[in-house]
Order: sequence, then C-alpha cells, then structure tokens
Amino acid sequence: MMMKAKSSFKIFIVVSFVATLTLVACALIGNVKGITPSPPRTVSPEPTFVVINLPTVTPFSPPESTPTPQPTNTATLVISQTATSTHTPTPIPTQTPSPTDSPTATTTAPTPTQIPTRGAINHVVIISVDGLRPDALDLANTPTLDALRAAGAYSSRAQAVVPSVTLINHASMLGGMGMEKHGITWNVLDPSLGKINGPTLFTVAHEAGLSTAMVVGKPRFEHLVLPDSVDNYIYAGPTDRQVTDQALQVIQAGLPNILFIHLPDVDAMGHQAGWMSPDQLASVAQTDGMIGEVVSALEAGGYLDKTLIIITADHGGHDTTHGTDSLEDTTIPWLAVGPGVPAGIILESNIVTYDTAATALYALDLPIPEVWDGRPVMGIFN
Ligand SMILES: [Zn+2]
Repeated sequence: MMMKAKSSFKIFIVVSFVATLTLVACALIGNVKGITPSPPRTVSPEPTFVVINLPTVTPFSPPESTPTPQPTNTATLVISQTATSTHTPTPIPTQTPSPTDSPTATTTAPTPTQIPTRGAINHVVIISVDGLRPDALDLANTPTLDALRAAGAYSSRAQAVVPSVTLINHASMLGGMGMEKHGITWNVLDPSLGKINGPTLFTVAHEAGLSTAMVVGKPRFEHLVLPDSVDNYIYAGPTDRQVTDQALQVIQAGLPNILFIHLPDVDAMGHQAGWMSPDQLASVAQTDGMIGEVVSALEAGGYLDKTLIIITADHGGHDTTHGTDSLEDTTIPWLAVGPGVPAGIILESNIVTYDTAATALYALDLPIPEVWDGRPVMGIFN
C-alpha cells in the first residue's frame, strides 16, 4: 500500500514536471490563462477596524509590506525516478480513526524515546499562502497545486475566522482556537502586546519530544512563538523567494516533525493590484512554483511517503483589502496530501482554519488539547 502511495506521488511529480514546463512557457507570454493585464490600481491599506468585545483593541497597521519585484519562476521538480505504472491511487484503509483521539489533556504525552506517529506519518508540513482565495486556483496557472489536488483531499470552502486578517487567523490555524481563546486580537508586530494563549500546535509537539520549525514572511508571527515550542523560528524576509530559500535549507538540514511555511507574495500583490486581478493571479502562479520547489525538496530528501502536507491560506480578499466577514474574505482553500490520504477527493465537511492544528496533531498521534476549538479533518484519514 505504501508502494501505491509512493507511486502516485511519482505520478504527480511527473505531471508537475510537464506542467511546470507549460508554466514557464506561459510565464514568458504573460503568466495567466488568457487574461490581459489591467491597469494598475491604487494600493489601499489594510482594514483599520477595531475588534469589539475584547480587552485589547489595536488598530491595524498600514499595508503589510512594500511590494517587491516578483522573481521569475524557476521551479523545477526533481524527478529521481520515473513512474512505472499508471494505476489510479486508492485510499489506504489501514488508518482507522479511534474515538479516543478526540480531545484529551496534554498530560498524556508519550515517552520521550518514542516518536509517535499515526500510521506512516511522522512529519507534517503546513504551507500557508497568505491571502489565497480558492477561486484563484481555478484561474491561475498552478500545475503544482493541481497535481497535489489530484493526489490528495481538497476543500474550496474552508473558513477563516473573523476578522479575516493575517495574524489573528494564523493564531487560529496554529493555535487550534478561535480569537476569544487564543487572545491574538491584533495584526501587527508589537512585542508589548504579548504572546498567544497556548497551547499551540508547537507547544504540544515540543512537549512530546518532536522537532518544530517555522519559516515566515512577516515578522509579526513572533507573537505565535511561545517559549519551548519552536526549535527553529526564521523570519526570512518579505518575499516568497526568501521564505522558500530558507525553507529549502531547513528541509535539507533534516525535516523537523512539524514545519510551517508562510508565503507572503499573493497577499502583497492583492493589496497592490487587487484580489483576483491578473497581476495577483500571476503571483499565485509564481507561488505555485515555490510550493513545487518545497515538494521537490521533500521528495529529494525521501520524506514524501511519511509526510502529511497541508496547504491552506489565512484569508481571502476583495478589491485591495480583506478583513470583513464576507465569503470573499473568509473562504480559504484547504488541501491535504500524504500517506493514507485519499487521492482526488473533495472534502465535504465544514473546515475552519483552527482544524488545521488539530489535524496535524492527530496525524502525529498526539493529544488534542481540550481547550481547542479545532477538530481533525477526519476525511483525510481513511
Ligand atoms: Zn494575510
């Protein structure tokens, strides 16, 4: 069964390679499927509303980062071995969810000598594409994500928490809780405001003896790093290129049990040129190439058959902003690929961003804190 899973990965790697060539060709003629560029629009700042009913109220900051020139797509997927069969990937039935994995206290941490895993999974890589709307994936050239979707389980209607802004949502994604519990009510870097209320995904994993790393494109993520939780926290710089380069180094040095990667370019282009604009769709295409590099590095390191990859976003957007409770702002993609994950299925359950943390812990066979709102997305553990 593992062979099948591995073979199906080989297949999508091959598909990705072919599609990447297409992508490069498309990049030369304008990046986006049949869409002509529109005139540049005025950059609008991030929303400046305040959060009601909460003790700490902080206005949001001006635009998150100065847009930087987009690097050309240089993604090349490594093919170390050609696929030898064309069978359809089938779900692996060895992983039966057990009800005892539902919320339990963190005191049940396993013994340090044992690396706990669920089935074949002993690494989780979470990639958050800042500001990625799921409908952008249907319009932009995304050969890597298309191949990953074909090899995994996907939802185009997962939900962010409100307000739909970066730090609050990543706090939920990685902290397993809604804003009222995790306490991150702001969207700026301000050390005087303190840290997230734990436990986070990283504190639970770290307590269990697992290794953890974060590579991010916005300095404000510091608020999510509790003591003794993240072994390797890297603010790489404000571009996907910088983040990806650092992430590749982390993977090549030995993939931690949990690796979180935050890619900022799609959001930056949304604020500059508008959500779903040709320029943003071109940015989505380039980000797809970065994700391809990460997957290639995982493949080269021999990690693909023991790694759950989750690709999602913190929020969507409309015009040149986000932050509201509209579906354009709150609907996010949620994709899981890995050993045992059924291939090519659409997840019908209602997924909220805080379920990402719970899914990661469940995949690693770690206890999910009782206080968390998040629950594992069981549809991927069939
Ligand atoms: Zn964001």
